[in-house]
Amino acid sequence: MNKSKILLIYTGGTIGMVKEANQPYLKPFNFENILERVKEIKLLNCQLETVSINNPIDSSNISINNWIELVNIIKTNYNSFDGFVILHGTDTMSYTASALSFLIQNLTKPIILTGSQLPLGDLRTDAKEHLITSIQLARPIHDFEKHHSSSQSSNSIKEVCLYFDNKLFRGNRTTKVNSDQFKAYASFNYPELAKSGVDLKINFEDLYKPQSSSPIFYDKLDDRVSVMRLYPGISKQNVKHMFSDNYSKVVIIESYGSGNMFNFKWFIDELKSSIEKGKYIINVSQCPKGSVKMGKYESSFKLVELDIISGKDITLESAIIKSMFLLSMKIDFKNFKEMFELSISGEIS
Ligand code: ASP
Repeated sequence: MNKSKILLIYTGGTIGMVKEANQPYLKPFNFENILERVKEIKLLNCQLETVSINNPIDSSNISINNWIELVNIIKTNYNSFDGFVILHGTDTMSYTASALSFLIQNLTKPIILTGSQLPLGDLRTDAKEHLITSIQLARPIHDFEKHHSSSQSSNSIKEVCLYFDNKLFRGNRTTKVNSDQFKAYASFNYPELAKSGVDLKINFEDLYKPQSSSPIFYDKLDDRVSVMRLYPGISKQNVKHMFSDNYSKVVIIESYGSGNMFNFKWFIDELKSSIEKGKYIINVSQCPKGSVKMGKYESSFKLVELDIISGKDITLESAIIKSMFLLSMKIDFKNFKEMFELSISGEIS
């Protein structure tokens, strides 16, 4: 049997960092050495090639340009590999997973992002297991153990995932929730796609099923997006200031509970006038679990009348990038709203 071919893409982050004796902080190490550092990779039944982005970074510095660079790497190598593993810093991995899920649609193979809380060189590192299991998950499904009926197992992973602490998640559903513990990510509104214990158990039922098998690669995101978090006591001046920014086209409002916002007259007037000026307002809840249901309470009824876009159960990370993606398509408000409220890559229910 032919060995599956996996491309390992290095972007930086703790997973690939070392502490040099004379430096107080962690710095990216020479990625060329990765196979030397994790000798176990050679035991996997696959052919692994490695590539690095131009300037490996701490993921706090990730930008739209880095995402486009990643899309180009995957596009160039798409037909030559069975799956892709991206090593990434944990801080913004959920944003990158969301970005790739919009920029590469109709995937026919897995893209698995992973990182670690401790550097590869640390004795107690979580990096090794993450790296090895991610490579295993990036192989075609028939390559690893199955626990489901044959009809289900004919499915394969065709989406952008994030693997961390024994769990595989849909990437655009994740949020980083812990900076201290190994359990760094959660997917509050979508089930885990796989669990790694003694065996790798895939949740075939919930894997993404693309509509078509012709991948589409996009290379644009429009950054005219801003986020406003509501809190009791926020000043009228502050709200006015945020709405008066002429650059942003989309304002995502982080609301309370099931999408509620205060209904003070001055606030509703601000919403109305910014909508009249052409801004697209999106309602995303501060509650990580559950969904926006506008109109359920009096405090959100007005929002329905104003045609505010519902973020339903999307994560803030995904809402930001989805807005950038849809803005780049230069569609009118009606289409933007319709497309935002529907799933593009399984990011919204
Ligand atoms: N600051 C690091 C990064 O996101 C943290 C990590 O990788 O865990 O690149």
